[in-house]
Amino acid sequence: MSGSASKEGISPGSGDGTRAVRAGLPEPVKYEPTLPGPVFAAHFHLPGDPTGPYTYGRDENPTWTHLEHAIGELEAPGQDGVETLVFASGMAAISSVLFSQLRAGDAVVLPGDGYQALPLARAQLEAYGIEVRTAPTGSDGQIEVLDGAKLLLIESPSNPGLDVCDIRRLADAAHAHGALVAVDNTLATPLGQRPLELGADFSVASGTKQLTGHGDILLGYVTSRAGEPMAAVRRWRKIVGAIPGPMEAWLAHRSIATLQMRVDRQNATALAVAEALRGRPEVSGLRYPGLPGDPSHRVASQQMRRYGCVVSFTLATRARAERFLGALQLVDEATSFGGLRSTAERRGRWGGDAVPEGFVRLSVGAEDPEDLVADVLRALEESER
Ligand SMILES: *Cc1c(COP(=O)(O)O)cnc(C)c1O
Repeated sequence: MSGSASKEGISPGSGDGTRAVRAGLPEPVKYEPTLPGPVFAAHFHLPGDPTGPYTYGRDENPTWTHLEHAIGELEAPGQDGVETLVFASGMAAISSVLFSQLRAGDAVVLPGDGYQALPLARAQLEAYGIEVRTAPTGSDGQIEVLDGAKLLLIESPSNPGLDVCDIRRLADAAHAHGALVAVDNTLATPLGQRPLELGADFSVASGTKQLTGHGDILLGYVTSRAGEPMAAVRRWRKIVGAIPGPMEAWLAHRSIATLQMRVDRQNATALAVAEALRGRPEVSGLRYPGLPGDPSHRVASQQMRRYGCVVSFTLATRARAERFLGALQLVDEATSFGGLRSTAERRGRWGGDAVPEGFVRLSVGAEDPEDLVADVLRALEESER
């Protein structure tokens, strides 16, 4: 079936760089490009009985198929029977799992400190008669409210607080209660964390962030073992039509080829920035899961292979944080994260997240580490005035 991981050409033992550059490539065809270009088609030639794989552009598209293979090979290397479905955005992917699995009268457990659109999803779920429980990511708080739940959504590391939970422990507990488990893998990327190997039923993510990494496309995906739950997600995509355009899908696939290089570079620099900020008197609440001593570090080290490119910290006041952001020269003031160009924002400007006024989320890009560290420390000093 399209969307199931093809393993031709990439052995499960390959390194992440090898896997990233080859992920999802079809068998070579003489005189054809290595990565076939985007297929723009609302419909496909289809005489006679309508058999697949390609009939109508809301259901399937060959450019998605290649991208779905690529993501599947990264999320679940060497695993048979794993399918990936791509969506128009991360929220389209997350919503597809929530709304395809839950019915009126069901209960769902969401992170209380997760992505800022989750409260909107909560209101919609409740409007449909679904009970929504929330608990914090840190200290595995969600484990306390699983009784009778149908679905558990985990976000680890959480955005923007960078708390981490023990995914395997929560997945085992959820399964013991008969609940399915979805993990939002946006921040880690599949090179940082493989939720299915940790016991999750679904890995869901925004591909808008570090997966594609250039800040120019929106994308989402769901990876899961084939079966009825995933078939329901596929039906939901068809019903809602939250599909990526072929151009976006192709750009995403092209971008994944550099994933290992970007992730290794950005994450190493994120650690360097965190180390530079550690011990600075102006900075409190510094968080980076890769930093030894961080409250997330121990559990993160057990389940993550890389720690992400996001660093967060708090400056004394809103004004101080704004002066800091304004003084940065190599860091764009923007929301979102994971791009090649560093970005930062004062998270409190959105409302919704339970963060102090001076809380800054910094997404570390691919600039030279010494340039970026120097810029951040200079802006910190200038923000004093
Ligand atoms: C950005 C983000 C989303 C939503 O993704 P979109 O592509 O913007 O729809 C979901 N979860 C997390 C953790 C995110 O950071």
